[in-house]
Amino acid sequence: MKIDSISRKQSFIGIIIVLVIVGLVYGLYFYSQRNPFEAVKEPILNENSISSAPQVYISSNVLQQGDTLLINIEGDDLESEISGKFGSTKIDFFKLDNYEGLVGITGIDVKKESGKYNLVIDFSGRNKFEKEIEIIEYEFPITELLITEELKEKGYTPLRIVENIITHENVILKEIISIHTPEAYFNTVFINPLGEIDIVGAFGNIRTSGNITAQHLGVDLDALVGTPVYAVNAGVVRFSQNLNTYGKTLIIDHGLGIHSLYLHLNEFKVSNGAKVKQGDIIGLSGNTGYSIAPHLHFSIKVNGSNVNPLKFIETMKK
Ligand SMILES: [Zn+2]
Repeated sequence: MKIDSISRKQSFIGIIIVLVIVGLVYGLYFYSQRNPFEAVKEPILNENSISSAPQVYISSNVLQQGDTLLINIEGDDLESEISGKFGSTKIDFFKLDNYEGLVGITGIDVKKESGKYNLVIDFSGRNKFEKEIEIIEYEFPITELLITEELKEKGYTPLRIVENIITHENVILKEIISIHTPEAYFNTVFINPLGEIDIVGAFGNIRTSGNITAQHLGVDLDALVGTPVYAVNAGVVRFSQNLNTYGKTLIIDHGLGIHSLYLHLNEFKVSNGAKVKQGDIIGLSGNTGYSIAPHLHFSIKVNGSNVNPLKFIETMKK
Protein backbone atom coordinates (compact mmCIF):
# COMPACT_ATOMS: atom_id res chain seq x y z
CA MET A 1 0.00 0.00 0.00
CA LYS A 2 2.68 2.43 1.08
CA ILE A 3 5.09 1.36 -1.66
CA ASP A 4 2.28 1.62 -4.20
CA SER A 5 1.42 5.20 -3.14
CA ILE A 6 5.10 6.22 -3.25
CA SER A 7 5.56 4.83 -6.75
CA ARG A 8 2.32 6.57 -7.86
CA LYS A 9 3.59 9.79 -6.33
CA GLN A 10 6.93 9.31 -8.12
CA SER A 11 5.31 8.64 -11.47
CA PHE A 12 3.03 11.71 -10.93
CA ILE A 13 6.11 13.87 -10.27
CA GLY A 14 7.79 12.25 -13.28
CA ILE A 15 4.87 13.23 -15.54
CA ILE A 16 4.93 16.79 -14.19
CA ILE A 17 8.70 17.05 -14.86
CA VAL A 18 8.23 15.73 -18.42
CA LEU A 19 5.37 18.23 -19.02
CA VAL A 20 7.50 21.10 -17.70
CA ILE A 21 10.43 20.10 -19.96
CA VAL A 22 8.14 19.75 -23.01
CA GLY A 23 6.59 23.15 -22.17
CA LEU A 24 10.02 24.78 -21.90
CA VAL A 25 11.22 23.29 -25.19
CA TYR A 26 8.05 24.47 -26.98
CA GLY A 27 8.27 27.86 -25.31
CA LEU A 28 11.89 28.29 -26.42
CA TYR A 29 11.00 27.16 -29.94
CA PHE A 30 8.15 29.67 -30.28
CA TYR A 31 10.27 32.40 -28.65
CA SER A 32 13.01 31.83 -31.25
CA GLN A 33 10.44 31.79 -34.07
CA ARG A 34 8.59 34.92 -32.99
CA ASN A 35 8.52 37.93 -35.23
CA PRO A 36 10.27 40.76 -33.40
CA PHE A 37 8.34 43.31 -35.44
CA GLU A 38 4.95 41.97 -34.46
CA ALA A 39 2.55 44.59 -33.23
CA VAL A 40 2.15 45.06 -29.50
CA LYS A 41 -1.58 44.61 -29.20
CA GLU A 42 -2.16 44.67 -25.48
CA PRO A 43 -2.82 48.04 -23.91
CA ILE A 44 -0.03 49.56 -21.91
CA LEU A 45 -1.53 51.29 -18.95
CA ASN A 46 -0.14 54.39 -17.50
CA GLU A 47 1.95 53.79 -14.41
CA ASN A 48 -0.26 55.99 -12.23
CA SER A 49 -3.30 54.61 -13.96
CA ILE A 50 -6.70 55.16 -12.49
CA SER A 51 -9.76 53.47 -13.97
CA SER A 52 -10.46 56.34 -16.41
CA ALA A 53 -6.79 56.89 -17.35
CA PRO A 54 -6.08 56.84 -21.07
CA GLN A 55 -4.72 53.64 -22.55
CA VAL A 56 -1.81 53.79 -24.96
CA TYR A 57 -1.32 51.19 -27.69
CA ILE A 58 1.80 51.09 -29.84
CA SER A 59 2.28 49.22 -33.13
CA SER A 60 5.55 47.72 -31.92
CA ASN A 61 8.28 48.31 -29.35
CA VAL A 62 11.02 46.99 -31.65
CA LEU A 63 11.41 48.75 -34.98
CA GLN A 64 13.89 48.73 -37.79
CA GLN A 65 15.21 51.58 -39.90
CA GLY A 66 12.50 52.72 -42.35
CA ASP A 67 9.60 51.54 -40.15
CA THR A 68 6.64 53.56 -38.96
CA LEU A 69 5.54 53.76 -35.33
CA LEU A 70 1.83 54.19 -34.70
CA ILE A 71 0.48 55.22 -31.31
CA ASN A 72 -3.20 54.94 -30.43
CA ILE A 73 -4.59 56.61 -27.32
CA GLU A 74 -7.98 55.56 -26.05
CA GLY A 75 -9.82 57.02 -23.10
CA ASP A 76 -12.64 59.26 -21.98
CA ASP A 77 -10.77 62.47 -21.40
CA LEU A 78 -8.81 63.11 -24.62
CA GLU A 79 -10.03 66.65 -25.17
CA SER A 80 -7.29 68.12 -23.04
CA GLU A 81 -3.82 68.92 -24.31
CA ILE A 82 -1.79 65.82 -25.19
CA SER A 83 1.79 66.13 -26.37
CA GLY A 84 4.10 63.41 -27.53
CA LYS A 85 7.76 62.99 -28.28
CA PHE A 86 9.79 60.15 -29.71
CA GLY A 87 13.40 60.91 -28.89
CA SER A 88 13.58 64.57 -29.87
CA THR A 89 10.84 64.29 -32.54
CA LYS A 90 7.46 65.84 -31.75
CA ILE A 91 4.37 63.69 -32.43
CA ASP A 92 1.05 65.15 -33.57
CA PHE A 93 -2.16 63.41 -32.48
CA PHE A 94 -5.24 63.34 -34.70
CA LYS A 95 -8.51 61.49 -35.30
CA LEU A 96 -8.63 58.63 -37.79
CA ASP A 97 -11.54 56.48 -38.97
CA ASN A 98 -11.36 52.87 -37.70
CA TYR A 99 -9.57 54.02 -34.55
CA GLU A 100 -11.09 55.07 -31.29
CA GLY A 101 -9.53 58.06 -29.59
CA LEU A 102 -6.42 59.61 -31.11
CA VAL A 103 -3.61 58.42 -33.36
CA GLY A 104 -0.02 59.61 -33.62
CA ILE A 105 2.54 58.62 -36.23
CA THR A 106 6.29 58.91 -36.35
CA GLY A 107 8.68 57.75 -39.04
CA ILE A 108 11.95 55.96 -38.32
CA ASP A 109 14.29 57.35 -40.95
CA VAL A 110 16.13 54.78 -43.06
CA LYS A 111 19.41 56.17 -41.67
CA LYS A 112 18.32 56.63 -38.03
CA GLU A 113 20.97 55.45 -35.61
CA SER A 114 20.10 52.14 -33.93
CA GLY A 115 19.57 52.09 -30.18
CA LYS A 116 16.97 52.78 -27.53
CA TYR A 117 14.69 55.83 -27.77
CA ASN A 118 12.10 57.11 -25.32
CA LEU A 119 8.47 57.56 -26.30
CA VAL A 120 6.93 60.10 -23.91
CA ILE A 121 3.27 61.13 -23.95
CA ASP A 122 2.24 63.90 -21.64
CA PHE A 123 -1.43 64.25 -20.70
CA SER A 124 -1.61 67.95 -19.73
CA GLY A 125 1.05 67.34 -17.12
CA ARG A 126 -1.41 65.22 -15.10
CA ASN A 127 -0.32 61.84 -16.40
CA LYS A 128 2.77 60.74 -18.25
CA PHE A 129 3.29 57.64 -20.34
CA GLU A 130 6.82 56.51 -21.03
CA LYS A 131 8.05 53.56 -23.05
CA GLU A 132 11.45 52.57 -24.36
CA ILE A 133 11.46 51.68 -28.06
CA GLU A 134 14.33 49.86 -29.66
CA ILE A 135 15.51 50.62 -33.16
CA ILE A 136 17.43 47.91 -34.92
CA GLU A 137 19.83 48.54 -37.78
CA TYR A 138 18.82 46.87 -41.01
CA GLU A 139 21.40 45.67 -43.49
CA PHE A 140 19.94 46.88 -46.73
CA PRO A 141 21.04 44.82 -49.72
CA ILE A 142 23.63 46.27 -52.08
CA THR A 143 22.57 46.23 -55.72
CA GLU A 144 24.04 47.56 -58.94
CA LEU A 145 23.12 51.02 -60.21
CA LEU A 146 22.09 49.96 -63.70
CA ILE A 147 22.31 52.15 -66.80
CA THR A 148 20.87 50.89 -70.07
CA GLU A 149 22.44 51.71 -73.48
CA GLU A 150 19.44 53.91 -74.20
CA LEU A 151 20.00 55.91 -71.02
CA LYS A 152 23.76 56.19 -71.75
CA GLU A 153 22.91 57.68 -75.14
CA LYS A 154 20.73 60.24 -73.39
CA GLY A 155 23.76 61.23 -71.29
CA TYR A 156 22.97 59.44 -68.01
CA THR A 157 26.01 58.18 -66.09
CA PRO A 158 26.11 57.00 -62.44
CA LEU A 159 28.14 60.08 -61.46
CA ARG A 160 25.81 62.53 -63.21
CA ILE A 161 22.71 60.85 -61.73
CA VAL A 162 24.00 60.95 -58.15
CA GLU A 163 25.44 64.48 -58.49
CA ASN A 164 22.20 65.77 -59.96
CA ILE A 165 20.16 64.17 -57.15
CA ILE A 166 22.37 65.55 -54.37
CA THR A 167 22.99 69.04 -55.69
CA HIS A 168 19.73 69.73 -57.48
CA GLU A 169 16.67 67.47 -57.30
CA ASN A 170 16.84 66.48 -53.62
CA VAL A 171 17.31 70.15 -52.73
CA ILE A 172 14.06 71.04 -54.56
CA LEU A 173 12.15 68.12 -53.02
CA LYS A 174 13.49 68.80 -49.52
CA GLU A 175 12.04 72.29 -49.63
CA ILE A 176 8.58 70.94 -50.53
CA ILE A 177 8.75 68.12 -47.99
CA SER A 178 9.73 70.50 -45.19
CA ILE A 179 6.27 72.12 -45.42
CA HIS A 180 4.50 71.19 -42.19
CA THR A 181 0.76 71.74 -42.51
CA PRO A 182 -0.44 71.66 -38.88
CA GLU A 183 -3.77 69.91 -39.58
CA ALA A 184 -4.48 66.60 -41.33
CA TYR A 185 -6.17 66.76 -44.75
CA PHE A 186 -7.09 63.07 -44.32
CA ASN A 187 -9.29 61.22 -41.86
CA THR A 188 -8.86 57.66 -43.03
CA VAL A 189 -6.02 55.14 -43.43
CA PHE A 190 -3.83 55.28 -46.55
CA ILE A 191 -4.33 53.10 -49.66
CA ASN A 192 -1.89 51.80 -52.29
CA PRO A 193 -1.05 54.03 -55.29
CA LEU A 194 -1.73 51.29 -57.86
CA GLY A 195 -4.50 48.73 -58.28
CA GLU A 196 -1.92 45.94 -58.28
CA ILE A 197 1.27 45.93 -56.23
CA ASP A 198 4.29 44.12 -57.65
CA ILE A 199 7.61 45.27 -56.16
CA VAL A 200 10.46 45.44 -58.67
CA GLY A 201 12.82 47.62 -56.60
CA ALA A 202 12.92 47.23 -52.80
CA PHE A 203 12.98 50.09 -50.33
CA GLY A 204 16.38 51.00 -48.89
CA ASN A 205 18.57 49.09 -51.34
CA ILE A 206 22.00 50.63 -51.68
CA ARG A 207 22.71 51.05 -55.38
CA THR A 208 26.34 51.25 -56.33
CA SER A 209 28.50 51.71 -59.39
CA GLY A 210 32.24 51.86 -58.69
CA ASN A 211 32.62 54.23 -55.74
CA ILE A 212 29.27 55.90 -56.37
CA THR A 213 26.38 54.94 -54.10
CA ALA A 214 22.78 56.03 -53.73
CA GLN A 215 20.18 54.62 -51.36
CA HIS A 216 16.77 53.84 -52.81
CA LEU A 217 14.39 55.89 -50.66
CA GLY A 218 11.14 54.59 -52.09
CA VAL A 219 9.74 51.46 -53.62
CA ASP A 220 9.59 50.64 -57.34
CA LEU A 221 6.29 49.16 -58.44
CA ASP A 222 5.81 47.41 -61.75
CA ALA A 223 3.41 49.38 -63.98
CA LEU A 224 2.97 49.64 -67.73
CA VAL A 225 3.15 53.14 -69.21
CA GLY A 226 -0.30 54.69 -68.79
CA THR A 227 -1.37 52.82 -65.62
CA PRO A 228 -3.59 55.04 -63.41
CA VAL A 229 -1.85 56.27 -60.26
CA TYR A 230 -4.09 57.02 -57.28
CA ALA A 231 -3.73 59.58 -54.51
CA VAL A 232 -2.95 57.41 -51.47
CA ASN A 233 -4.94 59.82 -49.32
CA ALA A 234 -6.56 63.25 -49.37
CA GLY A 235 -4.24 66.23 -49.59
CA VAL A 236 -2.94 69.14 -51.63
CA VAL A 237 -0.62 68.80 -54.64
CA ARG A 238 2.50 70.80 -53.75
CA PHE A 239 4.70 69.89 -56.72
CA SER A 240 4.32 68.63 -60.30
CA GLN A 241 7.39 69.08 -62.49
CA ASN A 242 9.56 67.17 -64.91
CA LEU A 243 13.00 66.53 -63.38
CA ASN A 244 16.01 65.12 -65.18
CA THR A 245 16.59 62.08 -62.88
CA TYR A 246 13.23 61.61 -61.15
CA GLY A 247 11.24 62.31 -64.30
CA LYS A 248 7.72 63.68 -64.02
CA THR A 249 7.37 64.03 -60.25
CA LEU A 250 4.28 64.76 -58.18
CA ILE A 251 4.12 65.41 -54.44
CA ILE A 252 1.00 65.43 -52.26
CA ASP A 253 1.01 67.11 -48.85
CA HIS A 254 -1.37 65.15 -46.58
CA GLY A 255 -0.85 67.45 -43.60
CA LEU A 256 0.99 66.82 -40.30
CA GLY A 257 4.28 66.61 -42.18
CA ILE A 258 3.22 63.54 -44.21
CA HIS A 259 4.00 63.66 -47.96
CA SER A 260 3.61 61.08 -50.73
CA LEU A 261 5.81 61.19 -53.85
CA TYR A 262 5.20 59.68 -57.28
CA LEU A 263 8.14 59.60 -59.74
CA HIS A 264 8.77 58.75 -63.42
CA LEU A 265 5.15 59.52 -64.38
CA ASN A 266 4.12 59.73 -68.02
CA GLU A 267 1.41 62.29 -67.46
CA PHE A 268 0.02 64.51 -64.70
CA LYS A 269 -3.76 64.43 -64.22
CA VAL A 270 -3.87 67.15 -61.55
CA SER A 271 -2.04 70.44 -61.31
CA ASN A 272 -0.02 72.09 -58.61
CA GLY A 273 -2.19 73.44 -55.79
CA ALA A 274 -5.08 71.05 -56.53
CA LYS A 275 -6.96 69.51 -53.62
CA VAL A 276 -7.22 65.75 -54.10
CA LYS A 277 -9.37 63.08 -52.49
CA GLN A 278 -8.19 59.58 -51.69
CA GLY A 279 -8.29 57.41 -54.82
CA ASP A 280 -8.31 60.32 -57.30
CA ILE A 281 -6.27 59.58 -60.42
CA ILE A 282 -3.38 62.02 -60.09
CA GLY A 283 -1.39 60.82 -63.07
CA LEU A 284 -0.43 57.95 -65.34
CA SER A 285 2.70 55.94 -64.64
CA GLY A 286 5.59 56.05 -67.08
CA ASN A 287 9.28 55.70 -67.74
CA THR A 288 10.50 59.32 -67.57
CA GLY A 289 13.88 60.46 -66.16
CA TYR A 290 16.43 57.88 -65.00
CA SER A 291 14.28 54.78 -65.29
CA ILE A 292 15.43 51.49 -66.83
CA ALA A 293 11.88 50.17 -67.42
CA PRO A 294 8.33 51.50 -66.99
CA HIS A 295 7.45 51.58 -63.28
CA LEU A 296 6.14 53.82 -60.52
CA HIS A 297 8.58 54.96 -57.86
CA PHE A 298 6.52 55.65 -54.74
CA SER A 299 7.81 57.27 -51.53
CA ILE A 300 6.35 58.51 -48.25
CA LYS A 301 8.07 61.02 -45.99
CA VAL A 302 6.99 61.59 -42.40
CA ASN A 303 8.36 64.94 -41.22
CA GLY A 304 11.20 64.47 -43.66
CA SER A 305 11.98 60.91 -42.51
CA ASN A 306 12.34 58.37 -45.31
CA VAL A 307 10.12 55.42 -44.47
CA ASN A 308 9.18 52.24 -46.32
CA PRO A 309 5.92 53.46 -47.93
CA LEU A 310 4.24 50.05 -48.11
CA LYS A 311 5.07 49.33 -44.47
CA PHE A 312 3.71 52.78 -43.57
CA ILE A 313 0.36 51.90 -45.22
CA GLU A 314 0.35 48.45 -43.59
CA THR A 315 1.12 49.79 -40.09
CA MET A 316 -1.87 52.13 -40.25
CA LYS A 317 -4.35 49.42 -41.26
CA LYS A 318 -6.23 47.95 -38.36
ZN1 LIG B 1 12.78 53.94 -57.47
